Amino acid sequence: MTDPAMHSAQTAAAQAAEPVVVAIDGPAGSGKSSVSQQVARRLGYGFLDTGAAYRALAWLALERGTDTSDSTSVVDVMGDFDYAISLDPDERWVRVGASDVTEAIREPRVSEAVSGIARVPAVRQAVNALFRSMVSSSGRPGVVVEGRDITTVVAPDAPVRILLTAAPEVRAARRSAELSSQDAAAVAAALHKRDASDSTVVDFLTAAPGVEVVDSTHLDFDQTVDAVIGVIRTNVPAQTGAHDGI
Ligand code: C5P
Repeated sequence: MTDPAMHSAQTAAAQAAEPVVVAIDGPAGSGKSSVSQQVARRLGYGFLDTGAAYRALAWLALERGTDTSDSTSVVDVMGDFDYAISLDPDERWVRVGASDVTEAIREPRVSEAVSGIARVPAVRQAVNALFRSMVSSSGRPGVVVEGRDITTVVAPDAPVRILLTAAPEVRAARRSAELSSQDAAAVAAALHKRDASDSTVVDFLTAAPGVEVVDSTHLDFDQTVDAVIGVIRTNVPAQTGAHDGI
């Protein structure tokens, strides 16, 4: 629920030109998606899960039987990529054309294919332009944007830039709790394989200069959300009511 005391500052900000961008990067299983969603809810901000775009494109490529390791074929699929995502943290959906792919993009076959898609530079450029335009036109006072390269490439000038980390074993345990149908060892192996592949494209394990690290290894969910909101209040006090001591 949105803190009522923040409402007037947010309303004023919503009328201003550009939303405040809260950029959050981190590896798989760091909790960044659920934490970012909850932070957005608490502040009345939008929430943009950028990984969903790469997953949706991977889903489309798989539907078409495209060889996802072939860049040229992937770029061809990108040409027909009619993508939409909800920025409302209380209403999450992802669509490709008329298909609702909200659930389908979380399937293991998509997770396995997605790194191949994400390493194609033309794909990254196209989705990054899409992310920036979605943020600009969100109509929200702010948007929490989470991914791997948000603090460094998508929004390097954002007033709030955070790297959310957690120890590898903690990340694997969290992810296997989310995917209860699969065994923990298989989940950990898949996660490490994807991180290794992704980190050859974008370094999301070390914080770039000016990026604040929030390590959630010893924090529970609510504590992590509070830690992130603490960083936001320090960096954009006028937006979040921090000047009122809230
Ligand atoms: O965040 P999530 O695990 O859903 O991301 C799925 C994949 O999308 C990642 O494994 C990575 O290959 C890619 N990705 C990316 N850059 C982002 C977000 C996600 O390369 N900003």
